[in-house]
Amino acid sequence: MQATERTGDFRKSARDLRVLAPPVWAVSVRRCKMPAGDHGDCSLVSKDGGQPHFRIRVAKALPEEAQVYVLLHEWAHALSWGSESHRIRAHGPEWGIAMSRIWQALVED
Ligand SMILES: [Zn+2]
Repeated sequence: MQATERTGDFRKSARDLRVLAPPVWAVSVRRCKMPAGDHGDCSLVSKDGGQPHFRIRVAKALPEEAQVYVLLHEWAHALSWGSESHRIRAHGPEWGIAMSRIWQALVED
């Protein structure tokens, strides 16, 4: 698949996602060192008493274009989970719908 200008830049993609496809909770995005073979992950983090938020981590060792694809993938988890993360299967139909929503918002004009 061909990446367009809109997906070439990691920071810009993260910014666009917040506007175009906001999940129910806030999302923190970090690029960090991850175990070999791990490209990224998404989890719902709740601190006591506070509002939960999604935490997305992307392996900084990846080339930037790959980082963007991982970001889109993980963002789709956040988008499909909503506040009932325990009921939504990873990479199931809800995730697929979220992924295509993201793809249309960012890649297709
Ligand atoms: Zn996944």
